[in-house]
Amino acid sequence: MNSFQPNDDRAARLRALEEAPVVLCSACLLGFHCRYDGDQRLTPAVMRALGDKAVVPICPEVAGGLSTPRPPAEISAGSGLAVAGGQSRVLTRSGEDLTAAFLRGAELAREAARRYGASVALLKEGSPSCGVNRISQNGQPTEGQGVTAAILFRAGVAVLSEEDLPSST
Ligand code: SF4
Repeated sequence: MNSFQPNDDRAARLRALEEAPVVLCSACLLGFHCRYDGDQRLTPAVMRALGDKAVVPICPEVAGGLSTPRPPAEISAGSGLAVAGGQSRVLTRSGEDLTAAFLRGAELAREAARRYGASVALLKEGSPSCGVNRISQNGQPTEGQGVTAAILFRAGVAVLSEEDLPSST
């Protein structure tokens, strides 16, 4: 299944972010210690972009039932949409299949966006859940999006990463 091309409309997505009263945001970008390694990625540019907007924090992997810390995982082939379509899986390095948890977390993120009226999501780049422009495959940066980013995009939510923000470029 093809990836979407979020870079094509970055300017429009930045405008959508500026105008959005409610934004769904990766919890690690807000300082929650929910990364696979127990760390966080509080990002000043993200805090500036959010300003006084209402923010819906979510960590899809934790919401999906995974613990922190947890083993790192990658999408085995293709991108998040392939996982959503049953054509790919999310695996740890030892081969444990985390696909169900990743899909559960992505659906909970989609439901949170719907419930709270978030038309924009600001997500952590490079993650197998939250990556917007890039994920990792075989340890290498690869163009594509994570499972949550893909499912949010498919639901009509404008997705951006912290690297899409003007001060990050
Ligand atoms: Fe959770 Fe997404 Fe941050 Fe990973 S990138 S820790 S899934 S919020």
